[in-house]
Amino acid sequence: MLLQKLQRFMMGRYGGDKFSIFLLVSGLVLTILGQIFFWPVILLGDALYLYALFRMFSRNIPARQREYYAFLKVWTPVADWFRFQKRKFSDRKTFRYFRCPNCGQQLRAPRGRGKIQVTCQKCRKEFIKKV
Ligand SMILES: [Zn+2]
Repeated sequence: MLLQKLQRFMMGRYGGDKFSIFLLVSGLVLTILGQIFFWPVILLGDALYLYALFRMFSRNIPARQREYYAFLKVWTPVADWFRFQKRKFSDRKTFRYFRCPNCGQQLRAPRGRGKIQVTCQKCRKEFIKKV
């Protein structure tokens, strides 16, 4: 009964996405920081909560989607960087990561092979690397 009412209420509304989750988590972080350091920061956290709620209940779906794509444009490189750092860390015993001296492309090679000749995938530059 309550679930059906909620479903009816949410019909035609935008609902949640990654941006909403980001806003809620950021709001939570700001609230905690405000509790510890400087109370007006809590108001900023509250503003993020309200914005997240506004977005979830909004009926202007195209505008919310535009916000979401703008968010993804910024967020995706950040998330990719963290994903890469995590992979680099979990591979640290089996792979050595380094950059191409010519173009700066990130490369990796299995550890413990001694001096190897590396060919960059991007610019085809060949160089010697100790791994
Ligand atoms: Zn290169």
